[in-house]
Amino acid sequence: MKKVIIVGAGISGMTAGIILQNSGFQTEIYEKNAVPGGELTGWKRDGVYIDNCIDYLMCSKKGSAMNELWHEIGMLEEGLPMYSKDYFFKYEGHGGQITFWRDKERTKKEMLELSPEDKDVIEKFFENVVRAESMIMPIDKPMDKMGPRDFMKLGDFVKNVPAAQKAYKGVSVKDLADSFKSPVLRSAVQLMHPEDTQAYSFIMSYAMVTSGSGDIPEGGSLAAARRIAKRYEDKGGKIHLNSPVKNVKINGKIAEGIVLEDGTEVTADYVICASDANHTFTKLLPSNLMPKKLKAEFDNKDHFSVFSKYHAAFLVDGKTDLPKDTSFWECDGINVWGDRVINDVGVICYDYDPTFAPEDKTVLQMKLFQYTDEVDKWFAIADDEEKYEAKKAEIADAMVKIIEKHCPGTEGKIKVLDTWTPVTYAKRFNAYRGAYMAFVADKDTKTVTTPGVVKPLKNVFLAGQWLMGSGGLPPATAQGKYAAWRICKKEGVECK
Ligand SMILES: Cc1cc2nc3c(=O)[nH]c(=O)nc-3n(C[C@H](O)[C@H](O)[C@H](O)COP(=O)(O)OP(=O)(O)OC[C@H]3O[C@@H](n4cnc5c(N)ncnc54)[C@H](O)[C@@H]3O)c2cc1C
Repeated sequence: MKKVIIVGAGISGMTAGIILQNSGFQTEIYEKNAVPGGELTGWKRDGVYIDNCIDYLMCSKKGSAMNELWHEIGMLEEGLPMYSKDYFFKYEGHGGQITFWRDKERTKKEMLELSPEDKDVIEKFFENVVRAESMIMPIDKPMDKMGPRDFMKLGDFVKNVPAAQKAYKGVSVKDLADSFKSPVLRSAVQLMHPEDTQAYSFIMSYAMVTSGSGDIPEGGSLAAARRIAKRYEDKGGKIHLNSPVKNVKINGKIAEGIVLEDGTEVTADYVICASDANHTFTKLLPSNLMPKKLKAEFDNKDHFSVFSKYHAAFLVDGKTDLPKDTSFWECDGINVWGDRVINDVGVICYDYDPTFAPEDKTVLQMKLFQYTDEVDKWFAIADDEEKYEAKKAEIADAMVKIIEKHCPGTEGKIKVLDTWTPVTYAKRFNAYRGAYMAFVADKDTKTVTTPGVVKPLKNVFLAGQWLMGSGGLPPATAQGKYAAWRICKKEGVECK
């Protein structure tokens, strides 16, 4: 039985492990942290649960290959309660409000009532939301190995999705927002994605919800990570926690195994690096082996950016008037670093999941996009603990005031549970510049998919979200499956 070592127990590494166990390999995962799941995670504070990943799960609805893969790895299970989204998010500001309902006709009606003068922009938007509903993630085999017949099997996707992308070619989320005359719609459209992102990303995310997906499994991200780890272990896999890998041991064109930070060497027939791509090619493997396509993204900073967020979680003693799930509103403004005032703030109200907090309490989370210079500022103060903690607390306190003002009756009842920043992601997951999604390709660029092979090495493969588009759970999971597929193919066994 051939042995495969996987670096990283994120969803990508665990997916590779499950498929390889199914296909007759002996696998072991080495993970630096004390819990499996990587960025698919959450934690407890003061007896309540803080979620830190699944805001929406693409392909949560049955009927796609990706949904079958969710069931195969344990992300979803028969009978597992799901929070079914009525809407993507809500926005209130500039004297109006809009909800991006799952029922797109309802949203369209509300938009037209709100702003009849935006009729043409609204019609075009919904025409392309309908097209983007055909979006599927091909997962049978790596995309670079797909032939015309494989593409034929993708059905409507092949004509509809490129048509929607073409309709918004060269248009960013900010451009799309600016094309609306209504200040309400102009603000709302740019809340969910970084402003440079291609407009199509917003359309695709909303289409995911209108097509009936985007629902969230009960227990949130940590419970999902635990189910996936259990599925892997039930199939005979072994996860070594608290086991950071120092490097992959290479001899010529062959990897002999891995070396752990404590010096232990472990041999293997194959190695999959399912860790952050930058970490993989600065620590685990020689940097000159980074695949060209991936290197081009790292090098082309004008067109491929990364972002992260500042987060704060709050416990409210009691219930609020906030709608469950994600809502935004216009506020007096919050200014993290003194040079960018954020006037529309968003909160996630986790009342949708009864397992997160006792019935008479509410867990909230606020997140603020942090772009390149802002991320740099967090890293610049990270080593000065006093300064770093004070900065985090200052923003959290400002957020408390914003919530208190928006939700009468909460004054004095909101406790800051935790705060975290781009530095947290870098320290905890070795995430490049604290980014927990992959590259954001701007409006003038195409998103890139990099084959997970490391030339000239014969037995090292890559997995993880950085190989595909703008990251997220489906690309990370698909890439885990692709890495397993490549090894099965080499060994001439069926990939199950
Ligand atoms: C706040 C937040 C919200 C999100 N919301 C969504 C959402 O709603 N929908 C969605 O689809 N996606 C969402 N994502 C993104 C999603 O979490 C990621 O795309 C996905 O989890 C990445 O998986 P991965 O396996 O590629 O990488 P990771 O999760 O980063 O896994 C890599 C693993 O490798 C480990 N590792 C790194 N270096 C080493 C080493 N040297 N030795 C051993 N182990 C190592 C890390 O600790 C980690 O466990 C969100 C992420 C965050 C943080």
